[in-house]
Amino acid sequence: MKLLSERKSPLNRVFVYQLEDGYRVESVFYRGDTLCVSTQVGCAVGCPFCLSGKDGLLRNLSSREIYLQYALLKDALPIRRIAIAGIGEPLMNIRNVVEAFWMFKKEGLKVSFYTSGHPVRHLPYVLTLPHSGLTVSLHAVRDEVRRRLLPHAGSLSELLKALRDSLSSVSKKKRKKVSLGYLLLKGVNDSEEDLTELARLAKSLDVSVTLLYYNNTVSAFEETGQEEYERAFLLLRSMGVRVTLSTRFRKDPLGGCGTLVVNRTL
Ligand code: SF4
Repeated sequence: MKLLSERKSPLNRVFVYQLEDGYRVESVFYRGDTLCVSTQVGCAVGCPFCLSGKDGLLRNLSSREIYLQYALLKDALPIRRIAIAGIGEPLMNIRNVVEAFWMFKKEGLKVSFYTSGHPVRHLPYVLTLPHSGLTVSLHAVRDEVRRRLLPHAGSLSELLKALRDSLSSVSKKKRKKVSLGYLLLKGVNDSEEDLTELARLAKSLDVSVTLLYYNNTVSAFEETGQEEYERAFLLLRSMGVRVTLSTRFRKDPLGGCGTLVVNRTL
């Protein structure tokens, strides 16, 4: 595996790697200290707001291939954190992802996960790992909307049941690091009714909510405006939910949410 190229924007740096069998995957360095790494060549979940899964899943990355995305850059960049949030669904490649997780931990790195939560049977185990954050991409509180946004991520009710069951045995301190990711899409999931239900779920699970910006360079959804985004934030806060706001890195056309692709043409 080798590093092929780098592209820079004022916010992000995107790296393309060539794998032994010729496939190309990507990582992003952002926030001045974090490397977002890929876990699969493609993704089977197929979210319509993300380019990573547009050709489905081609294969899993090995633990070494996940680790090497960091190792090939570590002498050149001040990487302190790893976000397992690039191309692929980490729970669908659980064995290699967990092996890579421990390789990163050995290097003294903080590691966070971003997952659709599918397959749900792996959630309890990932929750017990010494991670520095686990964001479960909920994006919808109604099953039909979630199926549209995460077409192959299983059922919402199964996910919520798995979260309820596994979080009950997780310490309060650990639960503080768990968050429901919610990508606000205008007219799709941002009604007051939906946000009220989101608040109710977050409170009943005793986890926070991460409100995510939609990256409008990726697909044709309508973006929730800044005013509505702030309204959503205040509504959740007024209901006693801990809320984190998305960073501007995620909206960047280069390296932002949903922009990483397999086999980029160089
Ligand atoms: S957002 Fe994540 S789960 Fe959805 S297609 Fe992209 S990589 Fe896969």
